[in-house]
Order: sequence, then structure tokens, then C-alpha cells
Amino acid sequence: MTLYFGWSLRADGVSFPSVQRLDLRFATMDLSSFEYPYVLDGGHGTALQNIGINVHEHPLWSFDTVIDNPKACLDVHKGFIDAGANVILTNTYHASIEVLQACRNMTKDAAASAIAQAVDLAKKAANEAHGEVHVVGSIGPYAIVRRDGSEYNGSYVDTTPRQVIANYYKDQMAAILATDLQWYALETIPRVDEARIALEVWESLEAAKDKKLWLSFNCQDSQRTCGNDMFSEAVKTISSYGSVTAIGINCTLPQYIAPLVRSATAEANGKPFVVYPNHGEVYNIEQQKFEVGSDDTFPIFLKDIPSLWRHNVRIFGGCCRVNYEHIDQITKAVETMKH
Ligand SMILES: [Zn+2]
Repeated sequence: MTLYFGWSLRADGVSFPSVQRLDLRFATMDLSSFEYPYVLDGGHGTALQNIGINVHEHPLWSFDTVIDNPKACLDVHKGFIDAGANVILTNTYHASIEVLQACRNMTKDAAASAIAQAVDLAKKAANEAHGEVHVVGSIGPYAIVRRDGSEYNGSYVDTTPRQVIANYYKDQMAAILATDLQWYALETIPRVDEARIALEVWESLEAAKDKKLWLSFNCQDSQRTCGNDMFSEAVKTISSYGSVTAIGINCTLPQYIAPLVRSATAEANGKPFVVYPNHGEVYNIEQQKFEVGSDDTFPIFLKDIPSLWRHNVRIFGGCCRVNYEHIDQITKAVETMKH
């Protein structure tokens, strides 16, 4: 943590000296030097759902809110920051440029502007926070173009031409890289062959050269990704890419996080992990929703945080159905590690 001095402007127009914290470790993604875990936010769509916005009824799910109700999107970011998150993901997971063109009659440029608008909302929430908050640009898997929840089995990777998937990533990455964030996340990737396509595109883009990236798999059990790859093998493969600065596990049942991390720590090339499970309900692909009422295993994840930290996990958060109160629970678990 580095301190630097600057001048701030009070609401009445009087400027005063201020001390601000500039976290160089985070800016350089040197997660290995973190003294304590960072707290990531939870499910953006879940938080919207909880204030009455039924994301399932929208063609772009939570991303429609960026266009139709940006205040709600900003409030969600602030809600997670208030719960203790010091890392927030942009609400761009579902921002498929192709779907924006098809369903909202947008040009490609207008779609890219909408993505920039989503990033601005996250930046605004971070800038208005009391403490230091970092914004990470979210990029979803190719499945978001299909809008059928197929990121939970990865079946489309066998039936979709490689070039089609590559073109998707090229457009999405170019649009969000134009917003010039420092960090990006490729999330909910079910298969290692999709990860390879995405990383090859990422490494071909000039704008990605100095950026930091975590690539996050979703997993079906304590060993395999949702697309049936061994997680440890997937980690071995992607950790060899120079562009991958951390490896993630997201949208996975909470009780599987610790065994997954333990199975792959030795394969990660020393690279740290970022983990953000769902709340513990099972995703039903046919109904395209989580089966609410299935076991609540989130407390298992909370209990695992100190041991996961010792296995090189540096950022903890939540994915689907993880709301403010659960991020608050993670924040409290992390706070106890500071004493
Ligand atoms: Zn999720």
C-alpha cells in the first residue's frame, strides 16, 4: 500500500490536502504480495432481480439494465461496495454485440458505446466509494450469444466453427479494451478448448498487451469443469499463457471450490487464484434458472477462506444468487484474518 498526497475539493468549493491510497500491488496484479484477501462482488443479475428487475425476461439479461435503467445498475455496484467489495466486475457479461444488434437494432458502434457505458457505471461507483475499489472488465463465454445457458455444459464448442467463436471474442474484447481498464476477466468458461481460442485472440490484440487478465472456469464437481475437462489439466494449460495473470473458478457450487483449488495449485505455474462460487443452488439448463431451495452450502465456502488463502487464492467473491449479505459475510471472514 503506497500513500500519496493530493488536493481534494469539498462540496463548498474549498480545496484541502488529502491523503489517498494507491495500491500498486493491485495495479500491477502482483497478487502474490497481497497481505490479505481482496473481496470481489456478487451476482449483478441477482441483485437486480432482488429489486424487482426480472433479468430472465430480457434478451440481454442483466445488460439491458445498463441501457434501460442505469441508476439500478449503479446502485447494484454501490450495494456490493457497501457490503465490503473492493473489486467489482462490470455488468458486461451478457453484453453480446451480436445480440445487441439483433435485439435492440444497434449498430456495432452503438453496441460498443453501450459496453463503455456499463464500464463507466462501475467506474463511477468505484470513484464515489470511500475506500479504494478496483474495476474489472467482464467478458462472458461464447454461450451468451446463444442465450441458452449452454455455458453450463460447453456443448456448443463441438458444433460451432472455431472462427465463429474467435470472431465473437475479437469483437467483445476490442469493445471492452477500448475502455482502458487495467484488469479484465474471462468468466464462466466451460472448456479448455474455448479458453485457448479466447486467449489466442486476446494475445493477438495490441490493446491487450499491458493489461491484466484472469480466466475463470465454471466447474460441475470437485474435479471437472462444466464442459468435462479435468480442472487441474485446464489450469496447467492456461497457466502457461503469458497473458493469464490469475486463474478463476466461478459459478460453481461452494463446496467444490476448496477441492478444485487443491487439485490444481501445483499446476498453476505459481499463478494465484480468484474464486467466486454461486450460492449453492444447482443450475437447471432446461429451465434456465437455479433450482432455489436446494442445499445452501455457501457457509462451507466461508469456512474454507483461510485455507484457500494458504493455497494462493487472493480474491474471494460470489457469482449467481450471491447478494449483498453474502458478500458482507465474506468481508467479515476476511476481516477476522487481519487480527
Ligand atoms: Zn454465475
